[in-house]
Amino acid sequence: MTDFIAIDGPAGSGKSSVSKAVARRLGFGYLDTGAAYRALAWHVLDRGADTDDAESVRLAASEFPVRLGLDPDDRAVLVGDSDVTDAIREPRVSGAVSGVARVPEVREQVNRLFRALVAEAPYPAVVVEGRDITTVVAPDAPVRILLTAAPEVRAARRAGELAGENAQAVAEALHKRDASDSAVVDFLNAADGVEVVDSTALDFPQTIDAVLAVIERLRGAHRG
Ligand code: C5P
Repeated sequence: MTDFIAIDGPAGSGKSSVSKAVARRLGFGYLDTGAAYRALAWHVLDRGADTDDAESVRLAASEFPVRLGLDPDDRAVLVGDSDVTDAIREPRVSGAVSGVARVPEVREQVNRLFRALVAEAPYPAVVVEGRDITTVVAPDAPVRILLTAAPEVRAARRAGELAGENAQAVAEALHKRDASDSAVVDFLNAADGVEVVDSTALDFPQTIDAVLAVIERLRGAHRG
């Protein structure tokens, strides 16, 4: 059976880049669950619909031919024949995605997709990152980590990723998204048995090492 390495955390905590680097280092698969929500938001917008309208979101989700790979070096995301890899990172999609993530049936549908992708994965383990992975998607995973960082550090990292964006606008958009997302999933506090890695004072290589150390310890403990 493929192991779930579950990593939760808010936007800008570094969870995507850290999870990807950890998967690469260990030869594991990598699943970016946010990409599925983003692809669905893109799909709703592409149909000319509004992501704040739950019924339009449900309709779009009922015909959602998404393809997500698990190779940490191939991050292509497709919806039908459209390659949406870059488009799903655009601010218009980031601004619309919380509306999609708020619909309970949609969450159940994508969670089934995530579990199936991991179950069929040609890897010994898959690093799965998102905001409810340790609590809802894989509460029994042998390794569950909450990656956090102080809000101002997260905003600065995001602004650095999006060259040319105004730092204050990025910080505001990030806080707004955290606020709407936290109404749905509590990703700022660790559930029982979830290890916290706080990257506020760590640089990227140090964060990777901290996560690798937790994985090694917990996988060892799990095997007994
Ligand atoms: O991680 P990322 O910023 O790409 O996630 C985009 C959005 O998808 C989040 O703001 C959130 O609304 C939603 N999401 C979620 N649950 C997940 C992953 C992402 O609700 N497991």
